[in-house]
Amino acid sequence: MKAVVMIKQVPDTNEVRLDPRTGTLIREGVPSIINPEDKSALEEALKLKEALGAEVIVISMGPPQAEDALREALAMGADEAILLTDRAFAGSDTWATATTLGYALKKIGDFDLVLAGRQAIDGDTAQVGPQVAEYLKIPQVTYVADLTVRGDSLCAKRVLEDGYEEIEAKLPALVTIVKEANAPRYPHAGAIITAYREQKVTLWGAKDIGADPETVGLKGSPTQVKRSFTPPPKEPGQILKGSPADAARDLVAILRQKNIV
Ligand SMILES: Cc1cc2nc3c(=O)[nH]c(=O)nc-3n(C[C@H](O)[C@H](O)[C@H](O)COP(=O)(O)OP(=O)(O)OC[C@H]3O[C@@H](n4cnc5c(N)ncnc54)[C@H](O)[C@@H]3O)c2cc1C
Repeated sequence: MKAVVMIKQVPDTNEVRLDPRTGTLIREGVPSIINPEDKSALEEALKLKEALGAEVIVISMGPPQAEDALREALAMGADEAILLTDRAFAGSDTWATATTLGYALKKIGDFDLVLAGRQAIDGDTAQVGPQVAEYLKIPQVTYVADLTVRGDSLCAKRVLEDGYEEIEAKLPALVTIVKEANAPRYPHAGAIITAYREQKVTLWGAKDIGADPETVGLKGSPTQVKRSFTPPPKEPGQILKGSPADAARDLVAILRQKNIV
């Protein structure tokens, strides 16, 4: 069995600020981490490795420094790491990102399961996983909190607002994992040293994955960001003091004054 985990390197959002002049993220000096729910997706794949002997491949599209995220995944126990990096991929929107990942998955070819995080903490769209499944024309199950694989099918417990749903799907399929699924393991020191000194991260550019230049990067992106901004803080609320009867009388007076009642 072959499981491919899609990993995005993201800025640690606790430390990100917005440049008020340009409206873009200030990334300088901000530490990068593996997107937290991608770590949960990797943990699910590593559990399948332990239970079924699955081969686990991690893949990321990003700038050269995204290699660090892949090395951390190798240290956690992934068998192979692939970084999709090329200037041709710059400016990708979610569809172009999914298309690029789709090309690479087609090149890998004989995967049984693709795992993604539910959403990335910087982009927050939760679009890439489902778009990859659409691109590959394979079944998808999103918001998965529990996953088992039996034979040629998977069984997934899917989180809903007011409960759970159990879904069965034929493999190959794509799942997006929520953080409630597990507590990702910490790599031990020896594995970190091996990941940095001995293990290889394969680099693939646009030509390696046979990408049509019109379908990736800015050219392959149907959406455009017009403006990013931090919404102004809301004005403080008003607390009505006194007894409940006094507060109710004052509230009605305020609502009348504003022509609401
Ligand atoms: C017009 C436009 C231009 C953009 N230009 C740039 C740019 O120049 N540089 C830039 O950094 N961003 C750019 N972005 C943002 C970029 O499109 C998104 O960060 C990216 O597509 C992922 O979307 P998301 O963060 O919402 O991920 P989500 O859809 O929330 O992610 C869901 C899951 O998909 C997987 N995933 C997502 N992205 C990747 C990835 N890159 N590799 C592997 N797995 C992944 C992960 O498993 C993740 O948990 C641009 C966006 C737009 C709309």
